[in-house]
Amino acid sequence: MIPLLDLRAQYAGIKAELDAAVLETLASGAYVSGPKVDAFEKSFAAYTGARQAVALNSGTSALHLALLALGIGPGDEVIAPAMTFVATVAAIRYAGATPVLVDADPLTWNIDPAGIARAITPRTRAIIPVHLHGRMADMDAIMAIAAQRGLPVIEDAAQAHGATWQGKGAGTIGAIGCFSFYPGKNLGACGEGGGAVTNDPALAARMHKLRDWGQEGRYNHVEHAFNYRMDGIQGAILSVKLAHLPRWTERRREVAALYDTLLAELPVQLPAKPTALEHVYHVYALRHPDRDRLAHGLMEAGVATGLHYPRPVHLQPAYADLGKGPGSFPVAEALAAEFLSLPIFPELTPEQQRHIAGALRDLLAPASVTSHAA
Ligand SMILES: *Cc1c(COP(=O)(O)O)cnc(C)c1O
Repeated sequence: MIPLLDLRAQYAGIKAELDAAVLETLASGAYVSGPKVDAFEKSFAAYTGARQAVALNSGTSALHLALLALGIGPGDEVIAPAMTFVATVAAIRYAGATPVLVDADPLTWNIDPAGIARAITPRTRAIIPVHLHGRMADMDAIMAIAAQRGLPVIEDAAQAHGATWQGKGAGTIGAIGCFSFYPGKNLGACGEGGGAVTNDPALAARMHKLRDWGQEGRYNHVEHAFNYRMDGIQGAILSVKLAHLPRWTERRREVAALYDTLLAELPVQLPAKPTALEHVYHVYALRHPDRDRLAHGLMEAGVATGLHYPRPVHLQPAYADLGKGPGSFPVAEALAAEFLSLPIFPELTPEQQRHIAGALRDLLAPASVTSHAA
């Protein structure tokens, strides 16, 4: 079976370095925060191009603290895409604010900037674009709308480590950029992890305080806050992996380019070719109306696939109270019905990709449709 991603292959490639970093941290006794986490913050900030980074225990915590650092709370509205992982919208609720969802653009699959402009009300306090699949949202249009209305932008860059828009790093264009280091992300810990980046030292200081019980000096708790700190071992692991990320991202782009070539003649919709941006291919998704048949056929051919995501947020039972039924966001709903993610990870081989493309070609051949119908 060709997996959707292969974390054991990644570990095998860097085992000696990773084992040494973990053992060193075990011996150091610095298990929560500490020098390994501080060092990771510095190198991650440098990698993204931001002035500062705040290491946290998850990407969801990063979104939550970004909203709190910007002073967003009950009564405030925050704009986010309907087509995203549920954490983007959950974090808005954690802050006590009201999520206002916006449909996707049919070509980029990211939040539609025109939809953002229409969704703004006098209560809107922030916009959260998501760089879905590692492809950045239209940051020129979004920043222009935000500037016109005086609204901060929080980038959900959980899938977009190292992606760029007009040469600027994901997470560094808005007021705060939020990243996940969940194991399957392009840069992943060996456990939970996340972080935020910003060019504003005051916002970084506020998030540093909020992640550690709102302390100013030991046991002096100046505000209601959280335990969102990063483990020392995860900081050490992430520093090791960050050094490999540029090479891994290059490999992801090569894998994507080969898929583009192998699938060019097939009747599937591929992601619109980026121009202003450099995609990091956290996910390689295609669109096809007969997605479920393709997923099943690929599974029979020994190929695992994914769905990112099979249901937009407004149709999740947990968000029924938003009052947006089927038909509210038709593009997001069509994407959810037609998206199919193919295996993509740095260690995937061209031979495996040719097998995957061959299996897809067979499934899409007119004869196979006839035999399916018969
Ligand atoms: C993974 C992800 C998150 C949440 O990150 P966690 O580290 O799992 O909390 C948020 N937004 C998006 C778009 C994600 O893909």
